[in-house]
Amino acid sequence: MANKKNKRWHGRKRGPKWANYVFVRVKLRNPRVKSLGIWNCRPIAGSSTWSQHSWGNAVDIGVPSLAYGDQVRNYLNRHKRFNIEHLLWRVENHYDHIHIDFRPNYTGKPPCA
Ligand SMILES: [Zn+2]
Repeated sequence: MANKKNKRWHGRKRGPKWANYVFVRVKLRNPRVKSLGIWNCRPIAGSSTWSQHSWGNAVDIGVPSLAYGDQVRNYLNRHKRFNIEHLLWRVENHYDHIHIDFRPNYTGKPPCA
């Protein structure tokens, strides 16, 4: 049964469990979103910095249209508790999904590298 107690988060608000938790929360209110993945060991496109996906500290949220993506972006922006460091939407390569990662970002070389 849903109650306040089992909605409480006990871990650190970043990393793969947190990314998945936030996605589940988003999907409850925005049912047409799809998870396009958390893990992806690679540098940021056009950069030597490792993507937060390399630590499982990011999630790509697929959206069916620009209007729907705007709605989800607004939903994310209203919820400071999601602990989002970066949100990418309507920038290069981000017209069909929203990228979010969580603070503090991981730095250096990821374990997968
Ligand atoms: Zn991403």
